[in-house]
Amino acid sequence: METPGGQRPGNVRPGTNPNAIANSMQNLEINQQQLSNLGGSAPRPSNPPPFSRQPPPFTGGRPGPPPPSAFPRSHLPSGPPSQTMGPARPTSSPLVAQPPPFVSRPAPPGAFPSSLARPSAAAAAAAPPSGTGPRPMSVSSTPLTSQLSTPPQTGNMVSNGPPAFALGATQGGPQFPPVGSNMPKPSVGHPQSPVVPPGPSSQPLHQRPGFGSSSFGASSSMGQPAPPFSAPAHTPFSAQSQTMPLPPGSSPFSRPVPGMPQPSSSPFGMQGWRQRPQQGAPPPFPGQQQPYGMPSGGPPLPNQSMALGQTGQSKIDPNQIPRLTPNSTVIFHETRQDNQANPPPPATSDYIVKDAGNCSPRYMRCTINQIPCTVDLLSTSAMQLALLVQPLALPHPSEEPIQVVDFGEHGPVRCSRCKGYINPFMKFIDQGRRFICNLCGFIDETPQDYRCNLGPDGRRRDAEERPELCRGTVEFIATKEYMVRDPMPAVYFFLVDVSMHAIQTGATAAACSAISQVISDLPGGPRTMVGIATFDSTIHFYNLKRALQQPLMLIVPDVQDVYTPLESDVIVQLAECREHLEMLLENIPTMFQNNRIGDSAFGAAIKASFLAMKSTGGKLLVFQSVLPSIGIGSLSARDAEGRSSISAGEKEAHKLLQPVDKTLKAMAIEFAEYQVCVDLFLTTQTYVDVASLSVVPRMTGGQVYYYYPFSALSDPAKLYNDLRWNVTRPQGFEAVMRVRCSQGIQVQEYYGNFCRRIPTDVDLPAIDCDKTLMVSLKHDDKLREGSECSFQCALLYTTVYGQRRIRVSTLSLPSTNMLSNLFRSADLDTQFACILKQTAIEIPLAPLAQVREQATNVCISILYSYRKFCATAATSSGQLILPEALKLLPLYTLALLKCNGLRLDGRIDDRAFWINYVSPLPIPFIIPLVYPRMISIHDLNEKVSDDPIIPSPIPLSSEHVSDEGIYLLENGDDCLIYAGSSVDKNVLQQLFGVSAIEEIPIQFIVQQYDNPLSKKLNAILNEIRRQRSSYLRMKLCKKGDVSGTMFFSHMVEDKTPGGLSYVEYLIHIHKQIQSRMD
Ligand SMILES: [Zn+2]
Repeated sequence: METPGGQRPGNVRPGTNPNAIANSMQNLEINQQQLSNLGGSAPRPSNPPPFSRQPPPFTGGRPGPPPPSAFPRSHLPSGPPSQTMGPARPTSSPLVAQPPPFVSRPAPPGAFPSSLARPSAAAAAAAPPSGTGPRPMSVSSTPLTSQLSTPPQTGNMVSNGPPAFALGATQGGPQFPPVGSNMPKPSVGHPQSPVVPPGPSSQPLHQRPGFGSSSFGASSSMGQPAPPFSAPAHTPFSAQSQTMPLPPGSSPFSRPVPGMPQPSSSPFGMQGWRQRPQQGAPPPFPGQQQPYGMPSGGPPLPNQSMALGQTGQSKIDPNQIPRLTPNSTVIFHETRQDNQANPPPPATSDYIVKDAGNCSPRYMRCTINQIPCTVDLLSTSAMQLALLVQPLALPHPSEEPIQVVDFGEHGPVRCSRCKGYINPFMKFIDQGRRFICNLCGFIDETPQDYRCNLGPDGRRRDAEERPELCRGTVEFIATKEYMVRDPMPAVYFFLVDVSMHAIQTGATAAACSAISQVISDLPGGPRTMVGIATFDSTIHFYNLKRALQQPLMLIVPDVQDVYTPLESDVIVQLAECREHLEMLLENIPTMFQNNRIGDSAFGAAIKASFLAMKSTGGKLLVFQSVLPSIGIGSLSARDAEGRSSISAGEKEAHKLLQPVDKTLKAMAIEFAEYQVCVDLFLTTQTYVDVASLSVVPRMTGGQVYYYYPFSALSDPAKLYNDLRWNVTRPQGFEAVMRVRCSQGIQVQEYYGNFCRRIPTDVDLPAIDCDKTLMVSLKHDDKLREGSECSFQCALLYTTVYGQRRIRVSTLSLPSTNMLSNLFRSADLDTQFACILKQTAIEIPLAPLAQVREQATNVCISILYSYRKFCATAATSSGQLILPEALKLLPLYTLALLKCNGLRLDGRIDDRAFWINYVSPLPIPFIIPLVYPRMISIHDLNEKVSDDPIIPSPIPLSSEHVSDEGIYLLENGDDCLIYAGSSVDKNVLQQLFGVSAIEEIPIQFIVQQYDNPLSKKLNAILNEIRRQRSSYLRMKLCKKGDVSGTMFFSHMVEDKTPGGLSYVEYLIHIHKQIQSRMD
């Protein structure tokens, strides 16, 4: 991939300049009523022009505050007591006054004082003399500040190969110390001595700088994201990791998952892959000696931990069936031990990774942690072999930052046949003069300046000192060879709908307010560029040059054949235009407040904005409120004939989930070629044809945000927080990604939000820490039993600070000929994420009933394979046997059938949004999306104070919802608060400040009152927001009305009009398996 090859349009500075036709552009001084100036060829429509009948907003130099009526900031909750919600305009310290809407795992403030973060003398002393072994490393002495204002460009750079920079040498900076000098290592040789897990409680972070890093998180180009909101008062994980006892003899990195049922044969322990013989599986639930309902009971089978008998449906006890057993304990995970891969903890658990050669499971996970040797074995298992890759995933604050390696002008060492990157699994031979590629098997010459003798163990003597030889993830500095142009600056272009509906619903004001508040958070330093345009039936650009006294509006009236006026002045450096931009954003809602133009030229507007961004690339953030109705890419209300809701009975309903035509897709492909990524914020109260619009974000590496029905009361806060996270989260631009596999396995297909121009690579105009791609794999040969199979994900990208980097993650897994090993090492969360993503792809392609059936069939086929081939003959056919690792698969599959994408009722746009929402979604967010978290909040005061912030979740069954209770249910995007009809008035008063539930509106704001109950609720909300990197849309649900029905539709274990109960579903699955057995 990274071989530049032929020139791509995206890499070439385009020579054509739309200014050639700029003389037909309309210039308007905003405060002049000079409509006569409008060009003759394409006059602005004769509707009341937005500026002619209203007080000129820009009179007399700097405008004062806009009239309150015009700019509904007053609609936005601000100030106490609405501390949780208030999207108050941030001051210099926006987060002090209000609790964090969400926090992205910030490093605790003050945890890394610069004095302590400096390289220690010991680290420097430990370094080998320069000239041999590792080359000098330059170290940034700037600690990461909360605003990430300093580009971490030289942090922790390790120079390999020819010393290209003398930085490190002149600073006398530390060399790369041997691994383990700063990291607590599990004591392999003395397993009886418990090792204190690394963690803030036992070892303050600032005392474990790891690898001589100067500032936590600054070594990776991404660094830690600027904490979007203030850090929680506690350090993450302090309490848990402190109180967690280690079982004697265990190493902190291989503990069984506490709270997760672990059969004694579980590979998730010290034993790695070796399976211990067992006398019998422990009962999966306390007190349950036999699988429930099992007739006369043969003993439970090895490798089997969940056996459900079924002698009669009425006998199945819902309390005995497999359920999520979440735990709040932090798991320590070392990716390899004793030269063997350690299976990762569940993706939904809280874990800290030590990269010991395999990459962190955050970056890459496989559906099965052992690779079947043959395609036949894989087919027999009925499981899917796929990787989920999230190349820029957020690390845990306690994890060692990713090392940046500089190979100088020659670039990183690569296999000359497959172009795979140097990694810990390349085997050096012949006194280090040659190496065998773990991906293609080719034997290569080691470059002269990269040679090193081998030790007695056959490894290079410097392996532990070179990150690329001992770490599963590293980042290489890209050389000129990886660029066809200079790395692009960070460019953010905002495009705001100002048509009548957008203005009247408050959507325009909310968008302008959100943009205005995030301007100060835009990353990228002085190179960052911005631009803004508004649109209704025409497009309005603004010249933001500082030299002008006020922003100049430039109207593009032609929405069929679009152009961009004054290309060079529409996008300018932020530092040059900030005042103008802020002034403009304050005034846009007023300027258009009487707009009567209902039409929307969405397609033309994004095209014109793209033309403005074409020479640089960048992020186009579009705020859209209505169905595009005019100009190129306009749409019609496909759901008009009473079909705003689709039922499963309609044969062709799924076609409404396909884009209506190819116009927008063709535009999107062109955008992607020029490295323009589109994010779409849909703030709407009507059908907008999400299925058609979403093609643009999808093809360009962007995403869709959906606020329906848009509420000017409750949605601005979420809009602001979503936008803020969008721009502040770690991200990169103009990226290309490829996954390579060992011989015998190859990539079959990539899925996610990107553009493909050649089969092997995916193009990502932008990529961020939340974006996940699914990579399906297939066999093209047999694997040798006992060999390892490697996967390498390489992402070439430009940082927001304009550095070209290659992030390389390598994962090496054992291969196996045993079906039972596949089931034992199946990764439930990853498998289910793949099933869900695959299902989402099929929804627009086939009738819903068929897609639903297919989802159930996948589940049945896997369980059937286990039942037929892995359960012993003694097993009664009356039992449902679930492999331990996949025992929740039926529950998740049932929940999938009941979520927005697959439920039998629902709006077309809701379904289309769901399909788009899950496309790039990381695994940890997929599980709560189908099986939301529900907790009770009326009894928070009864819980002991040292409990985790978020109480234990309740199963999603209405029998657990009492009339006296109040419950919170969240899925990462929505948050419902349900109140029963007999709730204690005191509790209502404390939580909501009212004495009767009727007094609370549906769209409401959780405020913080001065009582412990309310404070606990707010703390919980903030913790959930932090975990989900999402602000959550709050809705109040009351018993007896529509909102209550909506709440109970999330009780996925209940029987619903359109679906079976959990027990019924298990019986259904069991019957299907039995019929296949016969
Ligand atoms: Zn190779």
